[in-house]
Amino acid sequence: MSDAGPPDDRPEGPDVATEIEGHADVLAYLREADGHAFAFVGPSRIGRRTVALWWARWATCETVRAQGGDTPCGRCESCRLHAAGRHPDVAVKAPATETKRGRAALAPMLRIDQLVPRDGPSADPDPLATRIRARPRFGTSFAILDGAETLNEAAGNAFLKLLEEPPSWAKIVLIAPSVGALLPTLASRCTPVRFAAPPTHAAAGDAPHPALRTGQLGWLRSDAADPEGAAVLRDAADAVVAALPGPLDGALTATRAWLDVKRERAPGDADAWLLEALRRDAPAAYPAALAAVRDADDAARAYVGADVVAATLALRLRAAVGAA
Ligand SMILES: [Zn+2]
Repeated sequence: MSDAGPPDDRPEGPDVATEIEGHADVLAYLREADGHAFAFVGPSRIGRRTVALWWARWATCETVRAQGGDTPCGRCESCRLHAAGRHPDVAVKAPATETKRGRAALAPMLRIDQLVPRDGPSADPDPLATRIRARPRFGTSFAILDGAETLNEAAGNAFLKLLEEPPSWAKIVLIAPSVGALLPTLASRCTPVRFAAPPTHAAAGDAPHPALRTGQLGWLRSDAADPEGAAVLRDAADAVVAALPGPLDGALTATRAWLDVKRERAPGDADAWLLEALRRDAPAAYPAALAAVRDADDAARAYVGADVVAATLALRLRAAVGAA
């Protein structure tokens, strides 16, 4: 990793530059793209949201609109509003991570009131549909729906009207792992834009971060911002994989500890580290382990007790790696 700090006059910052790198084909396509609704599909942390924001930045840049160009200028008013995170023509919604009572949501979901106006004290005061129907200040307005695979039937139907009759100035981006993960009614109205792992560069240091292999540069970035947190997740995952072939109580203890770490920290990161450790030590176990981890998530959401979840997961992981 370079230890050079970010130059202050770079509105996009080094992170955006890193994440859009490798997606040149997608950017070139988006600069020419007609249509109003797009599904950005590909693995998490690969840069789908960053590219969507970059597209909005480029399309609304006053310099680009006046003179053309492949990159936003970084100096006009629109670029400055983007950099400050308060651009009037860009609305981003992501699954709510808190319940109405302020507790961590077990299964974050996009809610109807984030998309269309709803009454009620806890309703989103700035729903997506209202924002995108207002005439944009810089020519194009962007509605970006992260985690679009979490839309349930009711929320999807509420959103469908907007997809069917979008304002002429609108670009709507649904971000999801795959087209198949979206409700069919939504998927059929979107042009898919596929994100593949960009070619990675030479690994930094002697223990390359797995994200360099998978192309999940957002994972790399968040770990760079919180190396201690990343180390905790990695160590907990390594402990599970090391304990699986040994005595059962050791495997149980390590699995329980890993689930605790996962609950306290980024759940997706915890999964990524565990699966990466398994991929390294027991590659054949990977598919069964992935299914076991997913089922453990489902069980936790269904309020199955933590001990039962941990024991079931430990047993299934042991079976996956062929432990007696
Ligand atoms: Zn600009």
